[in-house]
Formats: sequence, C-alpha cells, structure tokens
Amino acid sequence: MTILRFAGRDRPGWRKIGGMFSVIGGSSAPCAVCRQVHRDLPRVLGTSAPDDWLAVSPGERLEAELTPDVCILPHGGATRHFIRGHIQLPLLVPDPEIFVWSVWVEVEEESMSSIAQSWSDPNRAAIAPITGWLATELPYEQPTKGLEVVVHTRDPGQVPLLMMTPDATHTLAAEQRNGVGLHRVAELAELLKR
Ligand SMILES: [Zn+2]
Repeated sequence: MTILRFAGRDRPGWRKIGGMFSVIGGSSAPCAVCRQVHRDLPRVLGTSAPDDWLAVSPGERLEAELTPDVCILPHGGATRHFIRGHIQLPLLVPDPEIFVWSVWVEVEEESMSSIAQSWSDPNRAAIAPITGWLATELPYEQPTKGLEVVVHTRDPGQVPLLMMTPDATHTLAAEQRNGVGLHRVAELAELLKR
C-alpha cells in the first residue's frame, strides 16, 4: 500500500508520497536556468483525493468511499468513479530519473468494475487499457482536469500508469513525451506551495 505523508506547509490535499525512493537527489552544480542548486526534490507529488471529493460537503463525503487508490463519489443523483494513477515525467540529467504526478482519474462505471474484478489478479497488468479523464488540477497554465488519458494497470501493488494521448498538445503531454529538467521539477514543486 502506498504510504501517504504530509509535506509540511504544502497546499491542503497535496502530499509528498514517500517510501525509500521518495527523493530525487539532484545536482550540486548550479542550475543553468536559475543558478540555484536543486537538491533533494520530491520524486512523487500527489493529492489525497480527487478534486471533486475535496469540493463536496462533509455530509456528501460521508456517503463517499475513499481509499488511497479508489474513490466512489455519489453526487447529484449519480455515482462517480475515480482511481489513482501515476503520470511519469522522465528526467534525463544528471541521472536517469522519473518524476511522478500521483493523480486521480475518473473512469466509467464499467471500467471501474473490470478494474475491481482484476485488482488482486496476479496478471492484472494484462487487462486492456482503459480510457479515463484526469480529475486533478495540476499547476499548468492550461487546465489539466478533464484531459483524456489511457489507464494501463500494472502488477498488483503498483499504481496504474496514465498515458496522455499521442496527439495531445497540452504541456503535460509534451513533458511526458520529452521529459523535464531538474529546474522544472523544482518549479512544479514550488508552484504547489502557492
Ligand atoms: Zn533552476
């Protein structure tokens, strides 16, 4: 199970998600962009719940189900289904690394049933990819909520991977394809504190 850890003064709902490999070591050389030294950056940043769960009233939350990986939210006469997924942004220098957005994705009820049925299946990575829509607003200029993603389940114990569609023009999609630098990871972590 993923370990969730509060990250000091970060925005409510945001967590640095921990474990042994929770930090990107960075470099002791000054950054070419800002001349600062970027060391010990968070490797995984995520929210504890979908934005829409955070937005509903405490009474509605009592009706909802929320675990570190799944959220079922009855709202306005319908039931919405969310799962946690990881968007990996490759970081190529100074060492091959991966920065991870641990976010929520909304899926249709049928997709949620097929995920639930295979959740403990040792071969669950073999199930067909599922379409979903991002349910977490990330600190980008263009909105990220509602972006279409493809959900790839992985082996039990591993959070599903989210892939942006190949023709997506969003900055987040470009960063997933082309990778980011240390400066950008530092910037993203800083933007969440505002
Ligand atoms: Zn920098």
